[in-house]
Amino acid sequence: MNTEFVEIDINNIDDELMTRAGDVIKSGGLVAFPTETVYGLGGDALNPSSSKKIYEAKGRPSDNPLIVHIADMESLESIVSDIPDMARKLADALWPGPLTMIFNKSDKVPYETTGGLDTVAVRMPDNKIALEFIRKAGGYVAAPSANKSGRPSTTKASHVMEDMSGRIDMIIDGGSSTIGLESTIVDLTGSVPMILRPGYISMKRLSKLVGEVEFDPAIVNVDAKSAPKAPGMKYKHYAPKGELAIIKGDAEKVISYIQAQSKKALSEGERVGIIATDETYLNYQATVVQNIGSKDDEETIARRLYAVLRDFDADDITRIYSEDFDTPNMGQAIMNRLIKAAGHTIIQL
Ligand code: AMP
Ligand code: MG
Repeated sequence: MNTEFVEIDINNIDDELMTRAGDVIKSGGLVAFPTETVYGLGGDALNPSSSKKIYEAKGRPSDNPLIVHIADMESLESIVSDIPDMARKLADALWPGPLTMIFNKSDKVPYETTGGLDTVAVRMPDNKIALEFIRKAGGYVAAPSANKSGRPSTTKASHVMEDMSGRIDMIIDGGSSTIGLESTIVDLTGSVPMILRPGYISMKRLSKLVGEVEFDPAIVNVDAKSAPKAPGMKYKHYAPKGELAIIKGDAEKVISYIQAQSKKALSEGERVGIIATDETYLNYQATVVQNIGSKDDEETIARRLYAVLRDFDADDITRIYSEDFDTPNMGQAIMNRLIKAAGHTIIQL
């Protein structure tokens, strides 16, 4: 398949190109598009064969449901069986934005899109290109992150090209994602809203709007016996090709441990990558030392994380050591992704 690549200026959106992209979706094709979180791999959410194509293009297990992206509240009414008051409050305050809500689905949404579930995940992205594209596509775009299953998510069109060239019809380049981590997912089908995946919107922020909010126990405690309620959370994810370990503990000990491990691995012929911060990176020698930003600037750490992991792949890094990022708001989301990328290899000093 020939993948068409188009660039769109977010401040001057080309109507003709967007109409063409929308038509690709309406005729059952796939288009990758920018959002504020990560790039999405879009297909018509109401067309079962489009959803099947998305799973194929990603190599994603088909029990892992897709998020339906909408551009206005009216669209929500027809794909869910009811809208709880709390969901309206959250939508009023946080949509468009990096929050995905789980509802009971209506008959309009095929099971191919929901991975066989009676619930549907819905989000209104905060990106002008994405919103215009969804409108042109008929209003309902199913879109997981536009990466091959198991690889780090894509935050730039060039990342999407790496993974999806030849597998989808079109890629819309709309610049880098401003947030860089996937949305917070909150389930509103029970009496208390439950966070199924941590993201940019913190629990504190949700609680301020709707009162008590809980975490899916399976994502807080990795050893929990129960499976996570978001099927996607059970898969290894976001992984770079090199073996990644996260080192936790007292800052000075972490630096000297990582530096010692790096030296040893280099002497054994490994290509070593280190994820460090403004405050620490000068302490390290490795094949590649990535300074992800100041340890106090969690927005930057979140935005750069996937690009850093992908850069290690481009440099053929075989062994990666990362400091941990215990930041106040997004720390949980950042660490959730990093721990998965590390396949749960955490060394506590
Ligand atoms: P991605 O699109 O790659 O960001 O992944 C979407 C995430 O949303 C996956 O972890 C899915 O398991 C989760 N998800 C989508 N729909 C539902 C649903 N109906 N119930 C629970 N989790 C869902
Ligand atoms: Mg994903």
